[in-house]
Amino acid sequence: MKADRYCFDGSTPCDLHKLPCDAKRDGVEKAQILEKTAANLVEMAALQDALYADGREGLVFILQALDAAGKDSTIKHVMSGLNPQGVRVTSFKQPNSEELSHDFLWRIHKALPPRGSIAIFNRSYYEDVLVVQVHDLQKGYKMPPRTLKGGKEAFFQNRYAQIRHYEDYLYDNGYRVVKIFLHLSKKEQKMRFLERIDNPAKNWKFSRSDLAERAHFDEYMHLFEEVIDATATKQSPWYAIPADQKWYTRYLVSEVVIDALRRCCHEYPKLPEGALDELKDCRTWLEAED
Ligand code: AMP
Ligand code: MG
Repeated sequence: MKADRYCFDGSTPCDLHKLPCDAKRDGVEKAQILEKTAANLVEMAALQDALYADGREGLVFILQALDAAGKDSTIKHVMSGLNPQGVRVTSFKQPNSEELSHDFLWRIHKALPPRGSIAIFNRSYYEDVLVVQVHDLQKGYKMPPRTLKGGKEAFFQNRYAQIRHYEDYLYDNGYRVVKIFLHLSKKEQKMRFLERIDNPAKNWKFSRSDLAERAHFDEYMHLFEEVIDATATKQSPWYAIPADQKWYTRYLVSEVVIDALRRCCHEYPKLPEGALDELKDCRTWLEAED
């Protein structure tokens, strides 16, 4: 699949400068991609139905990106191919005081739906090694001295290990975690910010703090590479998806979703012996009604 070339499973390092933010390199045609995306949404719905009926495995999709990369609109689009009954979308904002008084995975684990379902996380525990690391927020945490005494680098290396362990734990318990980074160029982010400012339907999404984060753009890119390298595994891969054109992002994400669904157990439960005879009996009974 086309998305494979954007996949990181720990076997090769991630160099975002070498990866495109747009569709040019892939030589695709927009009209064709739109058709394929529409077909993917149909296939996605069928696979999700089987995942739900099967019930042995759950899927967690994590979307991470800088502002205006299209996390919300990607989720909206993917959701249009899924049955809401088997999906739980959670947006992780700045932790509140209750969340901050727990370990950083507490709120995440609470948001995990039962097996057979799909979780979509709009941001996640990866914020705890991204925005927290950029702004040194760990310094303000109410935690015992032993957790911070090794210094900043040790603190975040430790968190990377905790994230790897958590994702292994989920895998061993029947959940697959797939991480998607929407790779937006700095130039396109500027265009989208300007559009947000000018458009009355979008200006509520913009705030001055978005500019403050943009000032750290290069630092974030570097950190994303580090985080991807530290946490990409065969079982829980990362995808660094070009995000400058939404039509292409949506297509690639739909491919990633379908690929993950196919890997999960998705067999309709087989009725036990005798149950088919029971069904036939019921049919006869219903037909005899009129
Ligand atoms: P938005 O997704 O635009 O609604 O913004 C949510 C904000 O919450 C972003 O600025 C995130 O960086 C921030 N956020 C999410 N999780 C955390 C976290 N664990 N620690 C600090 N800030 C966070
Ligand atoms: Mg925002």
